Amino acid sequence: MTAAASATPMVQVRDLEVVRAQRRILVVDSLSIPPGETLAVVGPNGAGKSTLLLALAGLLQPTRGSVVVDGVRLTRGGELDYRRRIGLVLPAPLLLSTTVFGNVAAGLRFRGVATAETRERVERWLERLGIAHLRDRPASQLSSGEAQRTSLARALVLEPRLLLLDEPFAALDSTTRAQLLDDFERLGVGGTATRVLVTHHLHEAVRLGDRLAVLLDGQIRQCDTPERVMASPADAQVAALVNAEARIRGHIVASDDGLVVVDTGAGSGSDVEARARRLLDAARSPAGEAARDSGQSRGA
Ligand code: ADP
Ligand code: MG
Repeated sequence: MTAAASATPMVQVRDLEVVRAQRRILVVDSLSIPPGETLAVVGPNGAGKSTLLLALAGLLQPTRGSVVVDGVRLTRGGELDYRRRIGLVLPAPLLLSTTVFGNVAAGLRFRGVATAETRERVERWLERLGIAHLRDRPASQLSSGEAQRTSLARALVLEPRLLLLDEPFAALDSTTRAQLLDDFERLGVGGTATRVLVTHHLHEAVRLGDRLAVLLDGQIRQCDTPERVMASPADAQVAALVNAEARIRGHIVASDDGLVVVDTGAGSGSDVEARARRLLDAARSPAGEAARDSGQSRGA
């Protein structure tokens, strides 16, 4: 019973389809995200990453299928209960024309959280995101990095069960990006929220994601740990996306001063080591070419 409860996914997507302008732009047969996981979604422009995030956020009506977050199914009319579980951070933050404090406090005020608690929670998150000194600054006077930190604070202060991040570092210069990435990683430690991070930067995905979902042409082609996706891409397009070099399994059977013979299992016969030794000897012999050729024909 307890095991079943703890195994309940935070996000469960089934048979999801999104059609826009008469085009199927997203099809997800099944996607399950366990509580506490950071799922990084990678894919080229137009792959459907933002569409997936908007569908998870309940901001886009799927043509088919179901999305359940934290046990609550997204239904027409029931969006509020659903959306309260979710925090959304977009690439370019849309801030209210008030102060940084006002922006971060807005959601709590809307939910009727008491003034003292609101102040305490907002200040804690301003502190954590390194923008406490900007507390009273109008949002219109922030740099893009400061604005994105404010946007993150606004989402995190609500302590959402599910945090959806669409290219949250995209609008930032590389220094700010690196700092925020560090902060984000730090905040992730010990954090309980489940996160879906959309990025087209593979290194961000690998660094922050417990799993990678590779989205191509509106389909999740592979969803696995970064290590496994990189080591065994599901197909050539996934391989191209993760820049995987051709990887061939094998083991070294002989080596000599930088010259290495690897058994890939592709050959036949059990005398691999003997044949490897002959190849190495042939390669080292003064009449290298000829000896190697004859070695090969003998082995064949
Ligand atoms: P990504 O975030 O991976 O770049 P999107 O989810 O934004 O991709 O878009 C996926 C596909 O859906 C693209 O081909 C895009 O042109 C299309 N699309 C996005 N928004 C709309 C829309 N409002 N109407 C029609 N097609 C759309
Ligand atoms: Mg997008």
